[in-house]
Amino acid sequence: MKSLIFLCISLVFFTSCTKRSLQIIDKPIVFDEERRQLSLDYLAKRHGLEQTEPYIKPKMIVLHWTAVPTLEATFNVFNPSVLSGRPDLQASSRLNTSVPFLVDRDGTIFRLLPDTTFARHCIGLNYCAIGIENVGNNDLTRAQMKANVQLVRYLKRRYQGIDYLIGHYEYTDFIGTSLWRETDPNYLTGKTDPGKSFMRKVRHRVRDLQLKGSPHGTQPIHLQALVH
Ligand SMILES: [Zn+2]
Repeated sequence: MKSLIFLCISLVFFTSCTKRSLQIIDKPIVFDEERRQLSLDYLAKRHGLEQTEPYIKPKMIVLHWTAVPTLEATFNVFNPSVLSGRPDLQASSRLNTSVPFLVDRDGTIFRLLPDTTFARHCIGLNYCAIGIENVGNNDLTRAQMKANVQLVRYLKRRYQGIDYLIGHYEYTDFIGTSLWRETDPNYLTGKTDPGKSFMRKVRHRVRDLQLKGSPHGTQPIHLQALVH
């Protein structure tokens, strides 16, 4: 009887801890027929993949910063189905940029799309990459770093096929690998997000998951500590 009571208490404690550990608030952006069709067109024209539904089999997680200072302003950027402005991107597709996950400055996690919905956030790799955006610039917070760690763990648990965790600034390192799928070799943009320091911290905290990074390698943690 005593052991049964202990088991019950443990279960309640474990369950409440698990619930507290990851909270995701649904805040869906528009995903109408136009966005669906533009996503299928992007998959076909940019990635060379003819699909009937705009979903991905995730192999990778890509972390970003938004370079937009607030949650609502970021939401308003991602919400429309069609891209406005951004002439550097318009020529390749009218599909607006987006990601499934957006992390606010205080670490609150919002889900903008179902996890595996196709989203335009990383040239050459969108078809296999789940994106996490962080509100801010090169000033991401500790709460955001912790939320990213939680999200990476959650996604790896749900999708066993995820083998890679990269920062957006590392995406061009995949050119020439079997993962890279972009039909125009000149369609590239320069990226620095979400910063090497942020990636180093997240990677250190999920190192037990043994996710791979850039195929060019990442510096060992002790060496990075000396360099930076
Ligand atoms: Zn980015």
